[in-house]
Amino acid sequence: MPTRRETLAASAALTGGALLSAAPSAAADPRVTPERAAAVSDRRSGTTIALTHATVLGAGADHTVLVHDGRITRTGRSAEVPVPSGATVYDLTGKYIVPGGLVESHVHNNGPEDVLPPLFPLNGVTAVREMWGRPVHHEWRDKVRAGELLGPRWVIAGSIIDGSPSLWAGDLEERVVEVTDAPSARRAVRGTKASGADFVKVYSRLTPEAYEAIADESRRQGLRYAGHCPDTLPIARASDAGQQSIEHLHALLLATSARESEIRRAMAKVRIDPATGTSFERYASWFRQVHAVEWRAVQTYDVGRARALFDRLAANGTRVVPTLTVHHSLERTDQLPYDSPEFAYLPGWMTGEWPTVWSALTAGRTARDTARIHRIYEHRLRLVAELHRAGVQLLAGTDTGTGYAVPGFSLHHELELLAEAGLPTRDVLRAATTAPARMLGLPADRADLLVLDADPRTDVRHTRRIDSVLVAGRYLDRAERLRLLSDVARAAAASEPPATGGAAPHVCAH
Ligand SMILES: [Zn+2]
Repeated sequence: MPTRRETLAASAALTGGALLSAAPSAAADPRVTPERAAAVSDRRSGTTIALTHATVLGAGADHTVLVHDGRITRTGRSAEVPVPSGATVYDLTGKYIVPGGLVESHVHNNGPEDVLPPLFPLNGVTAVREMWGRPVHHEWRDKVRAGELLGPRWVIAGSIIDGSPSLWAGDLEERVVEVTDAPSARRAVRGTKASGADFVKVYSRLTPEAYEAIADESRRQGLRYAGHCPDTLPIARASDAGQQSIEHLHALLLATSARESEIRRAMAKVRIDPATGTSFERYASWFRQVHAVEWRAVQTYDVGRARALFDRLAANGTRVVPTLTVHHSLERTDQLPYDSPEFAYLPGWMTGEWPTVWSALTAGRTARDTARIHRIYEHRLRLVAELHRAGVQLLAGTDTGTGYAVPGFSLHHELELLAEAGLPTRDVLRAATTAPARMLGLPADRADLLVLDADPRTDVRHTRRIDSVLVAGRYLDRAERLRLLSDVARAAAASEPPATGGAAPHVCAH
């Protein structure tokens, strides 16, 4: 059962929008074209929408939600909430409302504006955390806020801050900030602040000295920091220092070995040569070497060490984003969907590069390697179960933007994988609703919710059975949602690859 606090949080998510001041006038905004103003006006036209007789998660059965001028003005038991005359009524008997919608805590968006942003809300994802921030994400966020673009709320990282040489150094240099000592680390944090980012992204190859400087400077600048735990830093230190979340299940796997120091030495020996190949080729070479180290860690797993560490993460409030989706797609390549109806929602130039990227990452695996990699994946599921048992806050994130993870759709896959790892359904849902909303401190300034045909508390796969979505106060009923999905598929099919040679292959899970 949800706690009283969560019930209150759910109610706040439903009603909070009503308490805020009026939305800015579309007419006064020079960026709003007449066409866009039309799209905006349907949420400010003075009409009322009544969603009646739905079960609201965290509140109860037979509830009515009133939406007026794009804001949720009231929610309560249907018997106690009269429907105003003139309201457009949607009878949602037998439907389930997820207040606030779903949150995706680990995304990378690098592609067309008329494809990527809309895919999130059309799949019930109303907020995302962008893990490698670029100026275009800020542009999209502004357009979404102005009502010019259908999209999620965006919480945006700065550029990745890494040690030197970074795994991503070279041809992507403008997007990775390499730091070598405390002064350069502090400069990088101030640069993140100046860029308007919401938080600092830390990465694998930072030295402990640079990392500590980032932690301290972030505190001074009032910024959170999150990302990878550096290879050479004990996770307990990162947790004690205040890292908000740890991404993926690589660092935790190394840290729970009885032979941690031996394994970290082996990690330090994995070399990349910054002078050869593209950044992706160097990354692929690094990635292929890491599984041998991880296999050693699996063989020397120490449950006592794991429990002590996880208790500490729980006590410190350090979140973990396991990104099982990307681990699964790289380690259970036998289960990859080589084709899926979801792929039609992305441009062919994006999906078409996935097999090439995957071959580079998985090249040279023998049958024995493959068997071990399957065991490594099973071990990651076990770690998730142990983290959950220890009370560590887990967040659902997929690393979409890497291959075989379609924005919006992939979050539902992550929820299934978290359930496979052994999380009870309610806690799986929490990982994509109240837990990330708290971490991100999402203000209640948007009216969002997700309407499902079946109860997600009885089977988490029911989150895929979407009836409709309320996004930023705009209600996309079943027909409108399907129409907009078709628009995205058409835009994807018409999309041309960027003249600069397309999106650089990106895989950041390690
Ligand atoms: Zn990532």
